[in-house]
Amino acid sequence: MDARHSPFASDAELHRKLIESRRSIHGLERRAIHCPRCGYHIMDAYGHEHVVTIVKCQKCKFCEPLDLRLFRTIKGISYKPNK
Ligand SMILES: [Zn+2]
Repeated sequence: MDARHSPFASDAELHRKLIESRRSIHGLERRAIHCPRCGYHIMDAYGHEHVVTIVKCQKCKFCEPLDLRLFRTIKGISYKPNK
């Protein structure tokens, strides 16, 4: 990767943010976000904070903002972390 085009000041900063992100999901419920148009799995999200993200489906090219509060895992198939 060309460091000049990286949004991070350094590899160390990127590494620190990745570690911090991994720690922040600890204990949170994982939910799958599917494309509202075709059902394709777009991403997994953690927690229930009010997060709006622009999603782009690789399958049907759906591209819209999704409020992640409104797109929760279907009851019964939610991820259960091993403890
Ligand atoms: Zn789609």
